[in-house]
Amino acid sequence: MASISSRIHNDDIIYPSAVAFVLVHLACLAVFWTGFRTVDVVVCLALYFVRMFAITAGLHRYFSHKSFKTSRFFQFVLALVAGTSAQKGAIWWAAKHREHHKYSDTPNDVHSPAQSGFWMAHLGWIFTHSKGDADLSTVKDLTRYPELVWLDKHDRLPAVVLALLVLLTLGWSGLVVGFFVSTVLVYHCTFAINSLAHVYGKQRYITGDDSRNNWLLALLTMGEGWHNNHHHYQASTRQGFRWWEIDVTFYLLKLLSWLGVVWDLRSPPRAVVQGVKPLRPPVIEKVARELALSFSIETITAEIRAKWEQMPDLDALRERTRLTRARAEAYLSDWHLPELPSFEELRARALEKYAQSPSLDDIAGRARQILLEALCDELLQPVPVPSTPR
Ligand SMILES: [Zn+2]
Ligand SMILES: [Zn+2]
Repeated sequence: MASISSRIHNDDIIYPSAVAFVLVHLACLAVFWTGFRTVDVVVCLALYFVRMFAITAGLHRYFSHKSFKTSRFFQFVLALVAGTSAQKGAIWWAAKHREHHKYSDTPNDVHSPAQSGFWMAHLGWIFTHSKGDADLSTVKDLTRYPELVWLDKHDRLPAVVLALLVLLTLGWSGLVVGFFVSTVLVYHCTFAINSLAHVYGKQRYITGDDSRNNWLLALLTMGEGWHNNHHHYQASTRQGFRWWEIDVTFYLLKLLSWLGVVWDLRSPPRAVVQGVKPLRPPVIEKVARELALSFSIETITAEIRAKWEQMPDLDALRERTRLTRARAEAYLSDWHLPELPSFEELRARALEKYAQSPSLDDIAGRARQILLEALCDELLQPVPVPSTPR
């Protein structure tokens, strides 16, 4: 079994063993000795797409999100094929991924570019041992299958067996290009969803994190690049919400559903696609906090303090803000403070920063409340007395 811990860390997509990860990269250099044939390149591409499908359809959309149903047999096939990409077992992967959605782009997110920089988000976290821990209490729906637990326990076996099969059938150049180069491509395109898809692309929906829609990544990862859509509505099997958002994994799953291999594929409700559904309270809170922080509370406080110094009833005002916290907030809220961003100003900045949403008023209102609370905290602090020269 992959390392088990109750500590909460957060991952988006994968965690290969660090040493094996380096060795797989180094093995690709052997191509300078072996050379390559057309058949090696064809196998490289075929193994790339088959394994990418197992990752996106299996590890992500099925094991992590349960966005469709299938038989116990096909569930095992998905976990087995995904296992040949050397990204640990399906149970571990799903646990890490569920953590990702819980903590996206917060300090608990081990591969958030916003938190730790691009390279740490892309692959640096793999070399930080503690970040490989997964909280298996979130995947009890998967640990009840002994065959999946067995695969997680022997998580390198499928990749080793595949490598041997390729070596036996295609020789050394087949192993290097067909298996190792293909595995490295699968690694980095999967990692790109952790890193690039949280930096480059469009945010159609407010999700409270940095997830983006990126068409190039969607093509390379068979649909995973519609990452902002996915963060917006994780329960959907389909991640390309519009007809032009190519999502090959979904097309293949649709095909498999016609053959009866998978069923109950879930689609996003129309209101979700159109973005007319109000946001969930935790998302509103997260975005409002970010919006409030885009203003400098120190500057606002300094401006208000400077103005107060010139007012005749300064002491009375101070006295009033020294009242209980709640009354001070109510007082400040009623008082006309041009230094404090108004609801309209906050709403305008929210429109600039974020996608359209029916919750923009709630976000602006909550952001103003957060600013008021912070302003109160600052104003209730003792006023620094400038030292006067004797
Ligand atoms: Zn993400
Ligand atoms: Zn996901």
